[in-house]
Amino acid sequence: MILILKTLLNLILPNRCAYCGKIIESEHSICTECFSKLHFISAPYCQICGTPFETGTELASSSHLICPDCLSKKPITRLHRSCIVYDDFSKKTLLDFKFNDKIFLSKLFAKWLKVAGADIFEKGVDVMVPVPLSFQRILKRKYNQSALLAYDLSKLINVEVLPHTLIKIRHTKPQAALSENLRLTNIKNAYAVKNPNQIKGKRILLIDDVMTTGSTLNECAKTLLKAGAQSVDTLTIARTLKK
Ligand SMILES: [Zn+2]
Ligand SMILES: [Zn+2]
Repeated sequence: MILILKTLLNLILPNRCAYCGKIIESEHSICTECFSKLHFISAPYCQICGTPFETGTELASSSHLICPDCLSKKPITRLHRSCIVYDDFSKKTLLDFKFNDKIFLSKLFAKWLKVAGADIFEKGVDVMVPVPLSFQRILKRKYNQSALLAYDLSKLINVEVLPHTLIKIRHTKPQAALSENLRLTNIKNAYAVKNPNQIKGKRILLIDDVMTTGSTLNECAKTLLKAGAQSVDTLTIARTLKK
């Protein structure tokens, strides 16, 4: 009976590729053509910040697999991972997810986050915290895309989400419009922890949609560590790569 209903429903409302809208077999997925256009990040990559190494280079074949950036300066976060590279192709759908109410994408992205975050889950995570939006931005946008991601991921990995622990205490300019230096000052002291007891001694996984310079994630991580978190890992759908 359920099977018949499912088949009927599929005829009326077929599963569509989350990127191009083409009819496909499975739910919350993408077509093979779009899949081949997305640049998924895979090994070899830096064991700490997840930056992929070009195959054939000395770094890619070394057994340490830590990038020069992480070797020269200890990162604030324990591990960082992203699923895909933020490029012209991935950008459009990520912007639709963030600004144009395409919240159904969250289920697909959560599946990717579960795979990309394998090293983090192996190290152990106690709670997930989404990167918060300011009150003004929530009013305008109606939802926080990072919180949606955290909730859909929590259904797959069974880790609690703390949506109101880390809060944004002042409105800031959109980071995308600013240079790297301005991003740092724009975001400085913009976050606070509301209930430090909820995160004391906990290993936190911070969730966001995109990482560009990392200044937002670093500022959030600093705030959480100052409030007593044991460690902070970061996980995003997409990231930019340094040229
Ligand atoms: Zn497609
Ligand atoms: Zn690194």
